[in-house]
Amino acid sequence: MLFENISILDENLEYREGVFVGIEDATIAYVGDAAPADADRFGRRIDGRGKLAMPALYNAHAHAPMTLLRGFAENLPLDRWLNEKCWPFEAKMTPEDNYWATLLACAEMARYGVVSFSDMYYATPERARAVCEAGMKANLCEGLIAFEPKPYAEYPIAAQNEEYVRTLHGSADGRILIDYNIHAEYTSNEQVCRDIVALLRENGLRLHLHLSETKKEVEECRERHGGLSPVEYFDALGAFDVPCTAAHCVWLSDADLDILDRKGVFVANNPVSNMKLGSGFARIPEMLDRGMNVCVGSDGMASNNNHNLFSDLYVMGLIYKGYALDPAAVDPRQVLAAATRMGALSQGRADCGVLAEGYRADICVMDITGPQWCPLTQPLYNVVFAGDGSDVVLTLSDGQVVYERGTWPRIDIERARAEVQARAERIIAEL
Ligand SMILES: [Zn+2]
Repeated sequence: MLFENISILDENLEYREGVFVGIEDATIAYVGDAAPADADRFGRRIDGRGKLAMPALYNAHAHAPMTLLRGFAENLPLDRWLNEKCWPFEAKMTPEDNYWATLLACAEMARYGVVSFSDMYYATPERARAVCEAGMKANLCEGLIAFEPKPYAEYPIAAQNEEYVRTLHGSADGRILIDYNIHAEYTSNEQVCRDIVALLRENGLRLHLHLSETKKEVEECRERHGGLSPVEYFDALGAFDVPCTAAHCVWLSDADLDILDRKGVFVANNPVSNMKLGSGFARIPEMLDRGMNVCVGSDGMASNNNHNLFSDLYVMGLIYKGYALDPAAVDPRQVLAAATRMGALSQGRADCGVLAEGYRADICVMDITGPQWCPLTQPLYNVVFAGDGSDVVLTLSDGQVVYERGTWPRIDIERARAEVQARAERIIAEL
């Protein structure tokens, strides 16, 4: 595929016009201001005029099968939302429910320029199957809730995870990666956490957890663990000495910030979810000032309720200005970096998240001819504050088309919608 005369956001997220971008197999093979000498080798040519090609987006914290819970659990604080709505619903979900909901989530994400997501849930093989079929990428972790006082090895999930690592990690040309999960401090006992960290030190895999999402969580953790915050508690267990994505990180002390900064933890900001559940505002401007690894996630559909990550970027770019009483608190370039390069790095995908030669061809193309894009005085501001995910007309994952102008070449969208509708109705009727 060769884009001719297209505008791009380059490796520094600088806007450039009249660029030629050639894709060969899964890789960006050419980026230049002139047509490549051997243009014919790229096959399909796309007229790029009126379009913006940018790195595709990486959703750093998701629960794709929770697509089934969209609109089901509203107006509740996190603890009641989990206990009264989410967990009873999830107890009724079958592996096939997980498959169909993940497939529809993939379609939704691809439609809004997202190619990869870090997904914490159950039914890992079914989720992997959906992601592969959709042509997308995911870091999948099997959700761990561990209240029983016994070693991790005695939980059935331990053997399951070993099998997932053996059979799925790195499959589909590296598009599927297996991470490990500790759901949160309040849902896992200390021994299990220690055991998982020890395992990750050996196998080099990544950890994905929820961290300091609500004020209540932090207060109760301090009571349970001799005054330690969730950050201090997990740090003491060595959880940040392995590659780690920590979702939320809303209620942080100065000491917590220092720890996450020093340990290079990837903080997955979920601005929409945090507002929707009334959890609060993370200290994102300070994290960005420190140069911390801030990425961005949608979270699940019971607390968002869409996978249009551009709307999360809009919110992320906006709310911290209001909260901090500082119009310069967050910059569109930082927001876009969080959703692209930093998101890719949080997933251990060093060859992704940049539109430059040699990187994987994960690209989303936006139609910038709509009135909301004019004038292009500061294109980055248009991307975050004026344009929208619905301007995406083409999404490529590893050079493969996963969405193009209202079509999903790899997904039977009518079937996926019908399955998800029927399955949500069945579960709600069973409750
Ligand atoms: Zn979450």
